[in-house]
Amino acid sequence: MSILLKHVLLEGEETSVYIEDNLITEIGPAREADVVIEGEGKACIPGLINAHTHAAMTLFRSYADDMNLQEWLEGRIWPLEAKLTAEDVYWGTKLACLEMIKGGTTTFNDMYFCMEEAARAVLDMGMRAFLSYGVIDLFDEERAERELKATENILRFVSGLKSSRLSAALGPHAIYTVSRGTLESIVGMAVDEGLKVHFHLAETEKELKQSEEMYGKGPARALDDMGFLGPWLVAAHCVWLTQSDVRLLGERGVSAVHNPTSNMKLAVGRAFPFEAMKAAGVNAALGTDGASSNNNLDMFEAMKLASLLQKFYTGQPTSLRAEDALHMATRGGADALGIPAGTVEEGRLADVALLDLRRPEMVPLFNLNSNVVYSANASVVDTVICDGKVLMKGRRVKGEMEIIRRAQKVAEDVVSR
Ligand SMILES: [Zn+2]
Repeated sequence: MSILLKHVLLEGEETSVYIEDNLITEIGPAREADVVIEGEGKACIPGLINAHTHAAMTLFRSYADDMNLQEWLEGRIWPLEAKLTAEDVYWGTKLACLEMIKGGTTTFNDMYFCMEEAARAVLDMGMRAFLSYGVIDLFDEERAERELKATENILRFVSGLKSSRLSAALGPHAIYTVSRGTLESIVGMAVDEGLKVHFHLAETEKELKQSEEMYGKGPARALDDMGFLGPWLVAAHCVWLTQSDVRLLGERGVSAVHNPTSNMKLAVGRAFPFEAMKAAGVNAALGTDGASSNNNLDMFEAMKLASLLQKFYTGQPTSLRAEDALHMATRGGADALGIPAGTVEEGRLADVALLDLRRPEMVPLFNLNSNVVYSANASVVDTVICDGKVLMKGRRVKGEMEIIRRAQKVAEDVVSR
């Protein structure tokens, strides 16, 4: 199957993008194709990559806001999560996929539980995803064994599906919820099987203190002693790090995922050290985090807030420029996950989005990157293609109304249990 995106705006030039199977195979003059999508008045950008989220948490959107982290987690979220069924996770993940597709996101890096159902939802929706079971052993050996078993189950399940869009990853939650033994087992699996490790690192000052109490040093140094830092690591947050911690991440080839909205909403008290990361050669990606700490999965908003937060925090309006934000949301995410996506070039995966340039907030068009990062939001996305398949055209996604209806019902049911 071939698709032609005819006469789109790509990096300032009008051109056509030819897709064959799941790859971009040609950029240049228009030619015949099985499907022709008229691209006049539309910009072609790489599909956005949400490098850190907990997709099914869409079900808890607006259920508990404006609360302290501990109160929120222990008082509201954990009791609800304890009641979640596999079916709930399926519909929550579908709702997340629908929202992400409508916002131009083609790939996401997910950490949650009942991941077999998340895998089914992603397969049905046509997106690309990395799925990890969130391992929390709370320093209990029996629990650690159960959690590693659940991890092995999802690895086996995903590889059995043999989908080019689905990858399993390892998901130890954080240094304060997972024991040293389990972290070491997980990194062993990552190295042996060539898997990515999805992790929360240095999110809060409290985590820093806990790590100092447990290991006599901050989380980056403590994890390095365990051999945990390496190119397999996709570390969300990375806020409470020293300059030398950041250099260590750079030396080890770790990717860091900034989640500006979640960091601000939960008032973590610092900002992602973007300039230090850049200087240390750390690959930086961007994420939304789960919908209950955001509350949406809009990567356009994440790009804007990443840039504004950085400028505000450093006092430098020149820091984290529009092109940096766009890079983090595209190529940075692709490099973190190790996939040939995140740019619109011949030979890359056919994961792209078309933006409607006739929307009022996109006019005039002096600088596309500026309009995309500072002016656009998810609703400027018109068409989304993932793995060479059209997932949205003219803002319509197949089965959309049913997903909205079922997710609403499931969410109401969960809170009434
Ligand atoms: Zn998270």
